Amino acid sequence: MAIRIRKDEKEALVDLLGQEWDSAGDAATAVFSAVVSLLGQRDTYGVQVAGAGLVPFAVGPFYDTRETKALIAGLPAGWAREAVLFSPARMTAVTVEPSTDKRFCGACGHPKFAHGPHGCEVGEKRTKAGKVTTKGCGCKG
Ligand SMILES: [Zn+2]
Ligand SMILES: [Zn+2]
Repeated sequence: MAIRIRKDEKEALVDLLGQEWDSAGDAATAVFSAVVSLLGQRDTYGVQVAGAGLVPFAVGPFYDTRETKALIAGLPAGWAREAVLFSPARMTAVTVEPSTDKRFCGACGHPKFAHGPHGCEVGEKRTKAGKVTTKGCGCKG
């Protein structure tokens, strides 16, 4: 698993290691807990797999999209796609208050990627030719 420590993560761990510990075991436990907590704050990536005859499943987390792309490339075409994995904590925050996440529109609460040049397209339905048959959210935020 390719993962690089970030500056703030390194500082947090250096602080932790600088404390006085009763035993090396206590220090190891504290460092492990801190690493798990720090990684839990990162967004990660997963690969959704749904091939012929397979019960759909997901693989992850990955900390780098090169790994997800390599995994997808090794599977039959159309079987897999990449997905962002939110931590449960982020999902809770987004569910309670979408504006706490900058990737969600502060006005309508839908993901910003769903906002096209004519506004938010969540709920919008189009014909194959691209004609809008059902208007979407329409938020211009
Ligand atoms: Zn919207
Ligand atoms: Zn919006």
